[in-house]
Amino acid sequence: MTTEPISADGFAASAPVIIVGAGAAGLCAALAANELGAEIVVLERDSVPRGSTALSAGLIPAAGTRFQAARGIDDSAALFAFDLERKAQGEADARMVKLIARESAATIEWLADRYGLPFSVVHDFDYPGHSARRMHGLPSRSGVELIDRLRDAAERAGVPLIVNATVTALVADTARNIRGVEISRPNGSRDRLGCQALILACNGYGGAPELIARHIPEMRDALYFGHPGNRGNAALWGEELGAKLLHMSGYQGHGSVAHPHGILISWAVIMEGGFQVNVKGERFSDESLGYSEQAAVVLSQPEGIAFDIFDERIAAIARQFVDFQQAEASGAVIEAATPEELAARLRLPSSALSQTFAEVEDAKRAGAKDRFGRNFSAVAPLAAPFKAVKVTGALFHTQGGLAVDEEARVLSVEGMRLPNLFAAGGAAAGLSGSHATGYLSGNGLLTATVLGRIAGRSAAELVTQTG
Ligand SMILES: Cc1cc2nc3c(=O)[nH]c(=O)nc-3n(C[C@H](O)[C@H](O)[C@H](O)COP(=O)(O)OP(=O)(O)OC[C@H]3O[C@@H](n4cnc5c(N)ncnc54)[C@H](O)[C@@H]3O)c2cc1C
Repeated sequence: MTTEPISADGFAASAPVIIVGAGAAGLCAALAANELGAEIVVLERDSVPRGSTALSAGLIPAAGTRFQAARGIDDSAALFAFDLERKAQGEADARMVKLIARESAATIEWLADRYGLPFSVVHDFDYPGHSARRMHGLPSRSGVELIDRLRDAAERAGVPLIVNATVTALVADTARNIRGVEISRPNGSRDRLGCQALILACNGYGGAPELIARHIPEMRDALYFGHPGNRGNAALWGEELGAKLLHMSGYQGHGSVAHPHGILISWAVIMEGGFQVNVKGERFSDESLGYSEQAAVVLSQPEGIAFDIFDERIAAIARQFVDFQQAEASGAVIEAATPEELAARLRLPSSALSQTFAEVEDAKRAGAKDRFGRNFSAVAPLAAPFKAVKVTGALFHTQGGLAVDEEARVLSVEGMRLPNLFAAGGAAAGLSGSHATGYLSGNGLLTATVLGRIAGRSAAELVTQTG
């Protein structure tokens, strides 16, 4: 951080609003600010914007959309807020939860109607913790499609995007007013760009092992499955500025990454009636609680691995995800006609796996909670051909970050707004509280898109007012 009196000519160039990072948060912020007529520049370290957004399944929860209505799904912002608060066990900021739940439908419809993103709602399975089917995705159900469509929308809107530009420092005056940023280029050149408002959309600290060791020691040795360029800049700069950091131990994990293929296997395979066993062929948890907390649970099993067990009916649902199709194409999905054959193919103890199959099917028939507390009553029995994938647990992204208010303005440790600093997406504190269990499916892209849009609007309004 550089904190010094800077004259306007200390900068090579300037833009009223600078946005750091061109993931979902940065691009939604850019689109929203642009609509209000603000001049903006987006700075992105990579040569093509990808971020964790491109690695994701691109699924965004929203309550009360017309896509849900078309499917006859009854939902409301209040119910969504309730689910968010319940999953985070009351740790998330209630005002932010209500705001983001309320704005979720408008944000999805904005992206669909104004920028032509062809969303549809995932209507054929439940996500853990959501009381209604409210995950919205693009046709391929992939984050690559989401980022490509957002970048395309930004290009068509004429938003200037400077790639290969890594922001290395913020330039602030002694009143914590951000005057600009320093950028470095791959050829080693450095520049200073001035601004009147700055939006941090450079995600969290998943790509900074030392910050993971400090804040999330349980995932220190876990595979990091997110974008390596997310190195905790927002949190580090914020700390230097005296900004408030919240829930730094919170994160999104995932307990179903094909191993060793490194492909995300949708949790649909579990929620629709599948289950996980360890190398002993035994179940070890209530998998339906959520995939995020399941990362550490899987990693605590022998060899740090588990096997997702499901069937062809469930595989047909999972095939809507391009990731699952790739997993099948790469041989990660094993098929067998009987539990015994499956055990042989997976090299698991046959009698233990057969007994586990029988126990699960008994639980489905009984319609009561099993010994782990999982209720299988609403799902169908498994039928041949059976399927299995060897999986491990991984860290997907961090959920802690800069505390912001309803205008996405960064707050100081004392709870005051910093003059002209905004944050969205993984740069800001999420809605999941301080544990992996608090992550409700979709919390990542929810705050990237909704808060990104809010940050863009707020920054545009600030620079328009100050003129
Ligand atoms: C495998 C996987 C699956 C997921 N699936 C889902 C899902 O289906 N639904 C969901 O809600 N969430 C999901 N997530 C989480 C989701 O991807 C993130 O929460 C979301 O993409 C965050 O968006 P963002 O814009 O904040 O960050 P990003 O998309 O990571 O964008 C940040 C950008 O900032 C750039 N950057 C970083 N530092 C600098 C710097 N100093 N200077 C310039 N540029 C910089 C990066 O290069 C990057 O392009 C998933 C995550 C993973 C890893």
